[in-house]
Amino acid sequence: MGHPKFAELEGLKAIVTGGGSGIGRAIARTLAKQGVKITICDINLDAANTVAQSISGHALKIDVRSRSSVEKTFEQAADIMGGYDILIANAGVSTMQHALEITDEEWDFNFDVNTRGIFLTNQIAARRFVAQGQGVIVNTASLAAKVGAPLLAHYSASKFAVLGWTQALARELASKGIRVNAVCPGFVKTGMQEREIDWEAKLRGVSPERVVEDYIAQTPLGRLETPEDVADVVVFLCSDSARFMTGQGVNVTGGVYMT
Ligand code: ADP
Repeated sequence: MGHPKFAELEGLKAIVTGGGSGIGRAIARTLAKQGVKITICDINLDAANTVAQSISGHALKIDVRSRSSVEKTFEQAADIMGGYDILIANAGVSTMQHALEITDEEWDFNFDVNTRGIFLTNQIAARRFVAQGQGVIVNTASLAAKVGAPLLAHYSASKFAVLGWTQALARELASKGIRVNAVCPGFVKTGMQEREIDWEAKLRGVSPERVVEDYIAQTPLGRLETPEDVADVVVFLCSDSARFMTGQGVNVTGGVYMT
């Protein structure tokens, strides 16, 4: 199947946080194929560099938990690219734990990266977008932002918060020409998901292969999701074809979740 070309994206400039691996890497590559200039911002600079080199983009180290790091890094990205028009706020973490065993540290870790990270990156980019009268934000949420996921109560809570923020920000910025949406991936085979598969296998006392088979059995479209499945939807959300969409948490789950 061919991929649509969104001519209006050609020459735009995007920051992709967490673009060093998994979903973020696929988003960076897919946007680059549309002619978008990319700066990948990741806490893992080596991983960011590898991806950036493969798409003639730039890489910067960031810690999305820190306001000063986000301010400094986004400023550098703007200097390198000559501004930016798109923010893909995708950096995220997950740990698996029984709800009754979650520690304060695990709770804070998930909320600091997944929720505060979205708040800081969105706020700092949106100030620029308001000043320039245009801009698009796409946040990576999760299926676990719509349905509480067992063993991921802290992660789920942090991602539900992302959708609340996305909706509120979308309402505040709509009149200023800025759209804010989120994607909600399901079972994507990335570094994060592989760790979760191993965890779940251990906790259930079954093989990782069995966990994957069970995921697929729950998925109406009948296969495991790829990072590219998510990236294609993100690119669409950035394009003018999504001009009348804002405040949405778009499920990309193969039909696992339908509302
Ligand atoms: P996913 O399934 O969401 O793609 P990954 O673990 O493969 O999960 O990717 C998440 C990305 O987010 C990684 O590249 C990771 O280095 C990055 N990341 C994690 N924590 C931070 C942080 N505090 N600041 C910036 N990037 C981060």
